[in-house]
Amino acid sequence: MDIKKVLVTGGAGFIGSHTAVELLNTGFELVVIDNFSNSEPWIIKQIESITQKKISFYQADVTNQLSIQDIFNKEKPDVVIHFAAYKSVGESVTKPLMYFQNNIDSLMVILSCMSQSNCKKLVFSSSCTIYGNNHPNPLIEDYAFSDLPHAYGSSKQICETILQKTTIANQFNIISLRYFNPIGAHPSGLLGELPKGTPNNIMPYITQVAIGKLPFLTIFGNDYPTPDGTCIRDYIHISDLAEAHVFSCKRLLTSNIAPPYEVFNLGTGTGVSVLELINHFETENNVKIPYKIGLRRPGDAVCTYANPEKSKKNLKWEAKRSIKEMVKDGWRWQLFIK
Ligand code: UDP
Repeated sequence: MDIKKVLVTGGAGFIGSHTAVELLNTGFELVVIDNFSNSEPWIIKQIESITQKKISFYQADVTNQLSIQDIFNKEKPDVVIHFAAYKSVGESVTKPLMYFQNNIDSLMVILSCMSQSNCKKLVFSSSCTIYGNNHPNPLIEDYAFSDLPHAYGSSKQICETILQKTTIANQFNIISLRYFNPIGAHPSGLLGELPKGTPNNIMPYITQVAIGKLPFLTIFGNDYPTPDGTCIRDYIHISDLAEAHVFSCKRLLTSNIAPPYEVFNLGTGTGVSVLELINHFETENNVKIPYKIGLRRPGDAVCTYANPEKSKKNLKWEAKRSIKEMVKDGWRWQLFIK
């Protein structure tokens, strides 16, 4: 395959930046668009220093059709990976309009620019949250969407529906990736997650407790019907998740057997409880995580983990890194940013 160009929106974010590294390491040419609304400019330098390769970077808002169309006209990408979106479940409950507007508008701009530039291939960032809490585990891609109480997940469901319903008429070839719980950081310690303010997600919260920025972790409930009473999630190493995007680009670029629109779970298939995660972190990194048991967080699912079989079979991808690597790499990154 000759060298292909991938345009990544939100490429300075947590998942986008790790995917950028894997794409460059695989030999793709890379164009990144980010408005730094939830990321920082120095992350672009980190990607370039890890890979020793250059990125064609544009600071732009993906809801601004004119500026995005200019970038498409100039760069003529072969594939687009669309990460740029708002992603806080909690914030989406209080600001639903902002979430629907940003997450849906940005997708419409991307599809319209693709259409006008004759770029047909898209990888879309979706989430396991679209399944809701009503299906038995492990979750399979065939399960129906559930009604959700937050605009974040609903916006992802709407985006997936838009993709499914536009693919054939526009001769698009699209893969939606449903992420489970990405944690960890690049093993170099030079790239990781940069949460703004107090983290909502568990892993950055744990690392900030470990380094002394936060006094203790609150475990959101220990009276759930699970073996140790805490919630269970399918944590996946960020580099594994990033690699799945490379596999998706290759599938879109080479496969003539792929259906026009496909969805894949990105998880390990193994559930880990909050207490187990803390134990792994303490054991592997030899640090203590003080914690208190708090109330259940409204809307939390008891237990979610993926059935990863479809990704293994069709995408030819599977998660390889262990929970030990996830907690070690996450801690190395926290020590780097302090
Ligand atoms: N969690 C917790 N304390 C925190 C943050 C999260 O106990 O400060 C738990 C949360 O209840 C869930 C798990 O950690 O069971 C993962 O939460 P996170 O917000 O990271 O991801 P989610 O699965 O909600 O997308």
